[in-house]
Amino acid sequence: MSPNSKYVYFFGADQTEGKAEMRELLGGKGANLAEMASLGINVPPGFTITTEACNYYFKKDKTLPPSLWDEIIKNLKSLEKAMGKTFGGKKDPLLLSVRSGARVSMPGMMDTVLNLGLNEDTMKALAKKTSNNWFAHDCYRRFIAMFGNVVLGIDGEHFETILERKKEKRKVEFDTELLVDDLKGVIKDFKALVKKKVGHAFPEDPVEQLRMAIEAVFNSWNIPRAIHYRRLNHIPEDWGTAVNVQSMVFGNMGPTSATGVAFTRNPATGEKKFYGEYMINAQGEDVVAGIRTPQPIAKLKEDMPASYDELLEVYQTLENHYKDMQDIEFTIEDNRLYMLQTRAGKRTAAAAIRIAVDMVNEGLISKQEALLRVPAEQVDQIFHPMIDPKSKVKVLGKGLGASPGAATGKVVFSPDAAAELARKKERVILVRTETSPEDIHGMSVAQGILTAKGGMTSHAAVVARAMGKPCVSGLGELSVDTRKKKAWLNGTEIKELDAVTLDGADGRVMLGSVKLVQPRITGYFTQLMSWVDKVRNLSVRANADTPHDALVAREFGAQGIGLCRTEHMFFDEDRILLVRKMIVADKEKTREEALKKLLPIQRSDFTQIFKAMEGLPVTIRLLDPPLHEFLPADPKEIKALAKQMKVSPSALTKKIHSLKEANPMLGLRGCRLGLMFPEIYKMQVSAIIEAACKLVKKGTKVYPEIMIPLVGHVEELRQVRSQLDEVAQDIIKKAKVKLDYKVGTMIELPRAAITADEIAAEADFFSFGTNDLTQTTFGLSRDDSGMFLPEYIEMGVLDRDPFVSVDVSGVGEFVRIGAEKGRAANKKIHLGICGEHGGDPKSIEFFNSLKLDYVSCSPFRVPTALLAAAQAAIKDPKP
Ligand code: PEP
Ligand code: MG
Repeated sequence: MSPNSKYVYFFGADQTEGKAEMRELLGGKGANLAEMASLGINVPPGFTITTEACNYYFKKDKTLPPSLWDEIIKNLKSLEKAMGKTFGGKKDPLLLSVRSGARVSMPGMMDTVLNLGLNEDTMKALAKKTSNNWFAHDCYRRFIAMFGNVVLGIDGEHFETILERKKEKRKVEFDTELLVDDLKGVIKDFKALVKKKVGHAFPEDPVEQLRMAIEAVFNSWNIPRAIHYRRLNHIPEDWGTAVNVQSMVFGNMGPTSATGVAFTRNPATGEKKFYGEYMINAQGEDVVAGIRTPQPIAKLKEDMPASYDELLEVYQTLENHYKDMQDIEFTIEDNRLYMLQTRAGKRTAAAAIRIAVDMVNEGLISKQEALLRVPAEQVDQIFHPMIDPKSKVKVLGKGLGASPGAATGKVVFSPDAAAELARKKERVILVRTETSPEDIHGMSVAQGILTAKGGMTSHAAVVARAMGKPCVSGLGELSVDTRKKKAWLNGTEIKELDAVTLDGADGRVMLGSVKLVQPRITGYFTQLMSWVDKVRNLSVRANADTPHDALVAREFGAQGIGLCRTEHMFFDEDRILLVRKMIVADKEKTREEALKKLLPIQRSDFTQIFKAMEGLPVTIRLLDPPLHEFLPADPKEIKALAKQMKVSPSALTKKIHSLKEANPMLGLRGCRLGLMFPEIYKMQVSAIIEAACKLVKKGTKVYPEIMIPLVGHVEELRQVRSQLDEVAQDIIKKAKVKLDYKVGTMIELPRAAITADEIAAEADFFSFGTNDLTQTTFGLSRDDSGMFLPEYIEMGVLDRDPFVSVDVSGVGEFVRIGAEKGRAANKKIHLGICGEHGGDPKSIEFFNSLKLDYVSCSPFRVPTALLAAAQAAIKDPKP
């Protein structure tokens, strides 16, 4: 950034210096204004002050580059010449708009000042020149309010109140009904307000106004809402904003003027139809502020037919040029059309899919471009109900959007209450401080789940995603009192049976039951997914624990099961007692009896899952969680269990206490259970192999893969595997069938990744458990991280939640080392991911670069993962 850098670029009036590709320097708005001007589209001329000038301003303690002001004045002169008007002139004054414009659009986050250059003299000149006294006064009162708010920092409400009072006094509804004398009064009151609030008069010198406005737009890069938006959207701090200084055109010059916004296709559905609205005799901010109801764009054809035709031509030119749906802003000044902005329009997932497919069919873009046009992380939107965009909502608080989709229902605070109400066909939302495996029965019948604690891989989040159920987790402001059946959220008391609505995509919790709309799966989606399969390298499997989930996943395109968590099967009503008996049994005989009864139940589970996934691999993970997770904690429940088990409650309580661990996540779990209680794993392997043999006999194609969790040392795998192989071989031999099964391990501990070469010698496959690997690499509890991770991100310590998007330089490095060492030691080893990161597009890009074989994710994320895998392959076309 030398002091000689060029900081200002002119556009319009045949002197355009910028172009669309210069968005880093000119911001999106500035680059596109220049591009439109070069295309011969009518844009009001102006100039863009670069993002580099903004960065200089912040680096140098809020001083403008020394050469900048001279450049601005030079460009201002060119602008005056092009317009035939003078800035601050007393005959035909040039008025300016000063607008922000970052590299990517940050809608409504930064500041804008319109009608700049007005003072008592120029207002009079404007009135005379346009022979429209009302218009000139209307512009002036708008300018004072906007400048007062944006540049001088006065709350906009104060200006609104003055205007509202005037309308009340005059008994009129709309601003346009006020008379010139009324506006004069408003202007006087506005100026008095400014003086009172800032201690000096409203600045009259237009050059001074311009300088203040430019600095205010720069400063708006660092106002809290802009910072917050950047953090949420991962926009780097050092991009800065450009400032566009443009000659004003007026939509408020009377009935032959208007202003409007439009999309070149419907942003909600993607339908190829010009879509938008406009307002006659208004300026841009009126349309957004909802002061009057705007008219649908089709009506412009009647109101201003010539401008409408011209607008149609412009929008087609823009779409053909950018080859994407555009979001445009325009103003008609006295029947002359001006374009003020064009940018790629924001759209729903359904619209993105339809537009991409239509544009391929129209010959505008290639199939690969179409695949890149649909944001993979939004694809699962199309399977879940959504909040009706037309609904008015009262947001009580915002947690983590842990599982997408919207849900509405009556609040319950216990899984039993959920189950009871669900039996009566009521829709319920389960609200808990946090969930545990014991809550499954309530979770499975609830419409949605809300928790105060827990991050994106907490129990609630993982289970909800697997069930395809909306979930908001980690809402720190929520406090739940299960006994009183009440919760409090930011000052609102929520009682049992109160209606609430959750949006699991963005984490909002709303009061009352908000209308939901059901999206439909379309032929466009099917078409797009058929292109996906031709380009991707990664296979996509599903994390599914039930035959139903397996079928859903298969329908979405899953190529097998990458993780079947068998513990989820243990919580069903008909088996939890047996599981508990097995765990607390003191005698081996009692344990074996319980296991004997569990065996046929598990065999039938696996039979059904194998059938649902016929012809595809099914990875079944042996028991993983610490045993006390299956045991009751509540004394009442302990008493009931003791009765069922015919033991004394005190003996049972003692036993349960003896199983408690200080750090259960690092305790007796995973393969450690398999070594301490070999009969549990033996039972599970028997159930798997017996089910598979039976099906093979019937001609069903089954490919079982047995997965051992939490291996940290090769010896753990060697010993567990040798016991299990013995059991499996024995069954296969007796059944006299040919069955190929694999035994592999999860790589979810740093030590396993580092010694992957040793472990690979004993394993047919590795599946990276990136949830535990993230937990153990960061030393950060999965279940407690929700308490402060959001703040970590807010503070900029971490860029994103590492439980959502893989931490490439830390956790990712372990995956890379594990994959490399594993492959070096065992050429045939198969490598996959089964942590939640397997469904995250950004992580998938990384896994694709490591050339892993597959990712596995919850069924509803399968299409997202398929598309993300295709996008990763297109972006990184290495063979
Ligand atoms: C993991 O740790 O990444 C994993 C898939 O296993 P779980 O989430 O069940 O611990
Ligand atoms: Mg794990």
